[in-house]
Amino acid sequence: MPGNLDGLDVNCEEIKLALETDICKNCTNVVVGKGNLNADILFVGEAAGRNEDLQGLPFVGAAGKNLDKLLEEVGLSLDNIYVANILKCRPPENRDPLPEEIKAHTPWLVKQIKEMKPKVICSLGNYATKFFLSLGNVDDMKTQPGITSVHGKVRMMEFEGLNIKLIPLFHPAALIYNRSLKESWDKDLEMVKGEISENNLI
Ligand code: URA
Repeated sequence: MPGNLDGLDVNCEEIKLALETDICKNCTNVVVGKGNLNADILFVGEAAGRNEDLQGLPFVGAAGKNLDKLLEEVGLSLDNIYVANILKCRPPENRDPLPEEIKAHTPWLVKQIKEMKPKVICSLGNYATKFFLSLGNVDDMKTQPGITSVHGKVRMMEFEGLNIKLIPLFHPAALIYNRSLKESWDKDLEMVKGEISENNLI
């Protein structure tokens, strides 16, 4: 079982469902999130990697460095955002999340979203973006457009009764492997900056 369950309500249905998956039973730590739960902006990534698993915090490895740069460039810090993932723990060898794992882990994410009530969700990469585009219906994720066609395109949506502005962005790890994304990434950041100031988000 994960080593950092202190302070978590392990009898809560949404949390229990995730903790009962094999990936959670075999991880070092669960990665619940970091930042300010009273903020208006939520960033959602895919799943923990090795460093996140060891520290129990999201985006503390190489992808986290790119996320930190993004935040700095648009004037955000962990005081004005919260960061979480689709999966609450690391899949073995960082493999892609399975639909059953997404189904078991996202009720916990949805619970966090309902408590936090963010105005804006920045979905990082394909998994998070497809999850929100399918309004949380995991079986519909496979028919959603990929991040290459929807990044930087803001859309309003009603998610779990909340009016949310979804901003799909490339996953910060994608930039490490594909430098040709940098130009699009920079444009998307300009757009995020505009959204922040237009909507007085910080
Ligand atoms: N990649 C993610 O999607 N999330 C993390 O927390 C770390 C890397």
